Amino acid sequence: MKDRIVVLGAGYAGLGAAKRAARRLRGTGARMTLVNASDRFVERVRLHQLAAGQRLPDLPLATLLEGTGVELVVARVTGIDPEARTVRLDTPPYTLHYDVLVYALGSGAEPAAVPGAREHAYSLTTADEAVRLGRRVARAQRVTVVGGGLTGIEAATEFAFTRPGLRVELLSAGLVGEGLSVRARRHIHRAFARMGIDVREHTQVAKIDPDGALLESGDELRADTVVWAAGFRVPELAAQAGLATDRHGRMLVDRALRSVSHPDVFAAGDAAAADRSGRPTRMACQTGLPMGMYAGEAVADLLTGREPRRALFRYVWQNISLGRHDAVTQFTRPDDTSLETVMTGRPSAAFKEAILRGTVWAMRHSGPYRPIM
Ligand SMILES: Cc1cc2nc3c(=O)[nH]c(=O)nc-3n(C[C@H](O)[C@H](O)[C@H](O)COP(=O)(O)OP(=O)(O)OC[C@H]3O[C@@H](n4cnc5c(N)ncnc54)[C@H](O)[C@@H]3O)c2cc1C
Repeated sequence: MKDRIVVLGAGYAGLGAAKRAARRLRGTGARMTLVNASDRFVERVRLHQLAAGQRLPDLPLATLLEGTGVELVVARVTGIDPEARTVRLDTPPYTLHYDVLVYALGSGAEPAAVPGAREHAYSLTTADEAVRLGRRVARAQRVTVVGGGLTGIEAATEFAFTRPGLRVELLSAGLVGEGLSVRARRHIHRAFARMGIDVREHTQVAKIDPDGALLESGDELRADTVVWAAGFRVPELAAQAGLATDRHGRMLVDRALRSVSHPDVFAAGDAAAADRSGRPTRMACQTGLPMGMYAGEAVADLLTGREPRRALFRYVWQNISLGRHDAVTQFTRPDDTSLETVMTGRPSAAFKEAILRGTVWAMRHSGPYRPIM
């Protein structure tokens, strides 16, 4: 076999896919190349900790790939030509040919739709952005976080936990933690009150300037740092290449995570929209890691003459950190809707920490275990 497999993106999904497929295809002659913008594995789920000034473990991809036979190319992907089956890169070797492609480029910050946000707000969805924000937060007296989703909640509480004297404000267009159970949201509000975080729900930001945020209501909020944490956006490369995507640019894949328009392309993680009975998969590490492993298995199935297996989508929980000593574990139905069962406080924080460490363990050991979603 002389198959060339190219995996784009070495996040939870891409690294998981590359290692799983390489393990299954060892000895077959298949060649596996993993392309990533940096030579480090970024634990995105801890970027709020980095922005709050905490140190994160250094995880070189070369170490995580040791003994796998996967070739790492550190470069930025600038285009895909599905007809020629090539990928364009911004540095040598500039072009890679593939027989099977795995698209796992993840996501970045959703650009703010309000004037001034691009120039004056900070985000924390990539390591570089988190470091830049961290430098700013270290000197700040007052930080405003925009976005009442999980990233905004984790960021606001991490800043307040790490810098107790810092004034932190959280703005949400709707409810904070929408979709979580009443018990989970009640616990989050108690944590905000304990940490002195000011919360404004149902609040729209109209403009951001160097001095803070102007609200639709006309109120002006003075802040020396505004953090934009209102959603993720995926790269446009799949849509630009003519691969079938949803309206957000996430690649549409079938139950085997195979592109619905190009059967030699698979996708996993934030950049893929696998259908779960009409609802796309949640953008989460919790989704991306098992999806990556399934994609790796499906690629190996395809190249060894088997029918690519179907990924099973079942959720169990969501973990939201509230600083280092508190958290909420929201238990969910398999379809990701919230139950009223929650775990809170130190047990939940310890559980979340164990899950995050387990995730890095899974990135080191691609083992044959079956992923849970
Ligand atoms: C602060 C924060 C906290 C979070 N907390 C949680 C949590 O508690 N639980 C949870 O489940 N999820 C959480 N998430 C979401 C989670 O991090 C993402 O859903 C997850 O990282 C997606 O995995 P992925 O592999 O699809 O993409 P990523 O982890 O984003 O990896 C994509 C990779 O592709 C690379 N890449 C992108 N574009 C290019 C290009 N053009 N060329 C080359 N390489 C490229 C990137 O450098 C990166 O290495 C959090 C996110 C943030 C920002």
